[in-house]
Amino acid sequence: MANVVVIGAGLAGLPTAYELRHWLPKRHTVTLISNESKFTFIPGLIQVALNLKSLDHIQLDLSRLAQRHQLNWVHGRVTNLTPDRKQLVIEESLVIEYDYLAIATGAALAFDQISGSGPNGYTQSVCTPHHALAARQAWLDFLKNPGPLVVGAAPGVGCFGPAYEFVLMAEHELRRLGLRQQVPITYITPEPYVGHLGVSNIQHSQKLTTALMQEREIKVIENAEITAVNQQTITLADGRTLPFAYSMILPTFRGVDFVRAVPGLADDQGFIPVLPNQRHPQFSTIYAAGVSTQLEQPDQTPIPITSPKSGQMAETMAAAVAHNIAVELGAMRAPLQVPTLDALCFAEFGQTGIAYIAAPVLPDPETGKRKRSYAVRGPWVVWVKTAFEHYFMLKMRSGLGMPWFEKLGLRALFGLKMLKADTSSVVGSRATGVDG
Ligand SMILES: Cc1cc2nc3c(=O)[nH]c(=O)nc-3n(C[C@H](O)[C@H](O)[C@H](O)COP(=O)(O)OP(=O)(O)OC[C@H]3O[C@@H](n4cnc5c(N)ncnc54)[C@H](O)[C@@H]3O)c2cc1C
Repeated sequence: MANVVVIGAGLAGLPTAYELRHWLPKRHTVTLISNESKFTFIPGLIQVALNLKSLDHIQLDLSRLAQRHQLNWVHGRVTNLTPDRKQLVIEESLVIEYDYLAIATGAALAFDQISGSGPNGYTQSVCTPHHALAARQAWLDFLKNPGPLVVGAAPGVGCFGPAYEFVLMAEHELRRLGLRQQVPITYITPEPYVGHLGVSNIQHSQKLTTALMQEREIKVIENAEITAVNQQTITLADGRTLPFAYSMILPTFRGVDFVRAVPGLADDQGFIPVLPNQRHPQFSTIYAAGVSTQLEQPDQTPIPITSPKSGQMAETMAAAVAHNIAVELGAMRAPLQVPTLDALCFAEFGQTGIAYIAAPVLPDPETGKRKRSYAVRGPWVVWVKTAFEHYFMLKMRSGLGMPWFEKLGLRALFGLKMLKADTSSVVGSRATGVDG
């Protein structure tokens, strides 16, 4: 009997636990650990911050889900991990032993990189439920006393979609409230051009995103390197200062503390390197999925940025991790699976939206090309995004990871193949691998 432990119950962790429970016989335990008591559908936090949706709408109680779907639930923060002993520690006290470990801890937020940034400084964030609530309170205050709005991303960011969604949804909301004339809006980004998104050469992306910014009269500053924030202004490396009455700046991501503290587990930023099948190259019983994993950035940009790890990529990695652990444990005979990292992102901008597709997110290293990559605009993107949120919440309530009909739908509608067989793998060959 094995204990398979999943750390983190976000968009990667919860589906990993569900898929494991689906594949593994009941004699194996699936333990889910999270420092949060609730699952949050993170993409919904922008609407929470703009007072368009309540937080309850996008959260689910994890202890109830775990009970309903036969997961062993542990609420607490993992503070130490010792791969050689296959042990981890919760809150410096409770010791848990594992046979296989899936790390899905997302990112820590590096507000300390820019003085004055973040909810403890002067800019807002939408990256966690607590931040979104604080951003909402600040937004409501701002609506009573409007002024310049500055939205953007710090150097090193890889996830630009939320910044575009925030600035364009905020603009839409200000127009609806009759306040737009009182609010000059600026979008500042380390991207070399708008619509780059950490993924170069998405066909039509620059054109469509630029046109939208122009239509909405949003001033854009590209190649922007924020160096400091004070109560009323943001300073850029070229000396420009931007006054603001409200600002939302996405921070750079890094790996979480306990991951960074294990020698050899992560890179300098704390992201976990993985083989194509999501297993750690050195620690054979550790897998990782989602934002916690390392992903190269092949594009050299004037201001450093990183490659995005979207929610749907996190979900695909989760499916591969669970499948491959089940194979390692002998629960099924099948080749190991590899996530293709085909990426699809629906960005909602009020009455319209843009779907960005990069399949796969990293281009072929030899040709520099992708199978397909394009952007399309239309109001249907908003409807699809809303429908997807409902579908995802329903899946999480029902204990489903990435079911066959989702894979089929993505293939039929967008030509995306989420997982492929790892042809180099020998079934079950690493089941007795020794860590360290
Ligand atoms: C505002 C916003 C909007 C977004 N919109 C989109 C979108 O529209 N489409 C899209 O594809 N992607 C979107 N993304 C990206 C998407 O949300 C991420 O790809 C996804 O959340 C990654 O999932 P994850 O499980 O790796 O991390 P998370 O969802 O962040 O989950 C990590 C979990 O680990 C837990 N954890 C961390 N440390 C510990 C610890 N030490 N012990 C125990 N638990 C721990 C955390 O509490 C958290 O619950 C958005 C991101 C943001 C911030």
